Amino acid sequence: AEVTDARVVNTTCPYCGVGCGVKAEIAPDGNVSVRGDGEHPANFGRLCSKGSALNETIDLEGRLLHPHIGARRASWNDALDLVASTFSRTIAEHGPESVAFYVSGQLLTEDYYVANKLMKGFIGSANIDTNSRLCMASSVAGHRRAFGADIVPGTYADLELADLIVLVGSNLAWCHPVLYQRIAAAKEKRPEMRVVLVDPRRTMTADLADFHLPIRADGDGALFAGLLGWLADHEAVDRDYVAAHTTGFGAALAAARSVCLDEIAEQTGLQADELTSFYALFAGASKVVTVYSQGVNQSSTGTDKVNAIINCHLATGRIGRPGMGPFSVTGQPNAMGGREVGGLANMLAAHMEIENPDHRDRVQRFWRSPFIADRPGLKAVDLFRAVADGRIKALWIMATNPVDSLPEAASIEAALKACPFVVVSDVLTQTDTIRHAHVRLPAAAWGEKDGTVTNSERRISRQRAFLPLPGEARPDWRIICDVAQRMGFANAFSYASPAEIFREHAALSAFENGGTRAFDIGALAGIDLAHFDGMGPFQWPLPDADAPAETRFFGDGQFFTPDRKARFVAISAIADTRTSRDFPLILNTGRVRDHWHTMTRTGKSARLSQHLAEPFVEIHPEDAARYGIVDADIVRVSTMGHAILVRALLSTRQARGSVFVPIHWTDQFAARARVDILVPGLTDPHSGQPASKHVPVRVARF
Ligand code: SF4
Repeated sequence: AEVTDARVVNTTCPYCGVGCGVKAEIAPDGNVSVRGDGEHPANFGRLCSKGSALNETIDLEGRLLHPHIGARRASWNDALDLVASTFSRTIAEHGPESVAFYVSGQLLTEDYYVANKLMKGFIGSANIDTNSRLCMASSVAGHRRAFGADIVPGTYADLELADLIVLVGSNLAWCHPVLYQRIAAAKEKRPEMRVVLVDPRRTMTADLADFHLPIRADGDGALFAGLLGWLADHEAVDRDYVAAHTTGFGAALAAARSVCLDEIAEQTGLQADELTSFYALFAGASKVVTVYSQGVNQSSTGTDKVNAIINCHLATGRIGRPGMGPFSVTGQPNAMGGREVGGLANMLAAHMEIENPDHRDRVQRFWRSPFIADRPGLKAVDLFRAVADGRIKALWIMATNPVDSLPEAASIEAALKACPFVVVSDVLTQTDTIRHAHVRLPAAAWGEKDGTVTNSERRISRQRAFLPLPGEARPDWRIICDVAQRMGFANAFSYASPAEIFREHAALSAFENGGTRAFDIGALAGIDLAHFDGMGPFQWPLPDADAPAETRFFGDGQFFTPDRKARFVAISAIADTRTSRDFPLILNTGRVRDHWHTMTRTGKSARLSQHLAEPFVEIHPEDAARYGIVDADIVRVSTMGHAILVRALLSTRQARGSVFVPIHWTDQFAARARVDILVPGLTDPHSGQPASKHVPVRVARF
């Protein structure tokens, strides 16, 4: 049932949040080739280097094909019985807060839905969090503060319609390449379009920019607070819009004005004339989109930065209309789908609020569940601290590799070693995480699984299976349901297909809301299997299943707060400038063009590994000279307690006083290059998102 017999299958790329449509063609001899789907509205046929190499990553080498208990191969029955009985016993002895799930933006929405339903409705805890916490949690918190709901207002088409695109902390050229290509094509057609890049590094994205602001790390809050004050001082605020559709402008402006231009220059590391040129450009362009990504989100002030950006769009009324708006682009293929079904520890399904008793009651009645979690669970960093100190006694990790990807990576490994019961469901036999599992469950991989994902512009697309399930692998939704049934919840987890789960998810989105909630795909609540199989990509909100159209939010000036007005947030724009004599450089972590996460998939493609073949530290030549480092030296990058060894890459693209190390290489691929052992578990107080781009370090030749 998981395999279609079509020769060409329309599916979706499993990498970044652009969510490109892919056509997988299966030749009679079984060979698979891929190309961009010319009709998919995210990419119109384009694919980047990673997407076009997908067929090089689907072999079975290294695949986990059978369940294991310890080192021993086990039957599915034995493995599932052990997982279910251990979770049930732990809950009975220590309560529902003693267990947790750590899931992934790689899961499909249907997987996410049942995992969240099991934890929040049937176990009765909200201890389910996701690696999307590392990606866009600050945007979620910022949206909720400003709009009353987690809404990305715009669409990709807005990027092509804008007069000015401001890219903040976003290396689109490498991390969202197809969006970069769309902007480049639009700029070629309309050379008057302007692009500003705000980034400490002169990344490849700067090649498209008319104007690069080499901002000091974490200076973004100050930059946009300064912009708000400048807009007010130069009659560039849309006073009618602010009065009719917002509250809190006065307090936000007072906070913004508490920092003078000289202080903003100090906090941003920019010259006063660079600031005023940018501010004048923003004020003078009638259609502005501000795109932001991990450089904004992965910060101890990430949520404030998001709201500082949104404040400027609200002040100018540039939101909800073609070519305008703040635009958070997500890192993962299905971070957005996870948000829709409550994959975060502080949300319920269908964008409902865990702190809202009406929402809890509604979800519980819809699920007919024995419980509903009544308070937020532990967010990623805190969740693993609870594993380390023994509060979490049974942990299930799905489709992610936290030993390499979470901050305090060395502590994560120690926490797993100490945890009485760790289950990992994944596709590989060897990851730095799975070797700590007491039970390993073989999951279906891309090309074998079936369901939906949501991209950064709220577009829901199908991922479709075109390969048989190898060995004894099962889709994640089915594994979760198999365990739930054994825990005594058979009636609520008896789905026969992802289509049935999607149908329930759609029905919940519309349940008793009178059309008032942001996330509503209730028009699809009656979808049958055939329609689900053939379902094309569409954006939510979905007004009519037969008339999917491009949708923007807030064009009517109505938001999801009780008074339907957007909220300005007063931002105290203090840049985080912690360095010391011992640790004088700021470490910024991020992605390279041709690898993905911890390389469990892209590491299989020799072609993708040619671009940058080994882990490196990018450093400005003047800083390198100061420390006696020459190009290609092995360099020790260290914090107080930890160090990694990486190759020196001297580049004037890197700002003085800072270094960059990619996140992808793990101990599996290169000894001692796991950069997340250097990143402390410092998080944003609103979102819980770790500050992965601002770590004081020192460097030395090895
Ligand atoms: Fe895949 Fe993103 Fe590349 Fe599109 S831009 S092909 S979604 S990695």
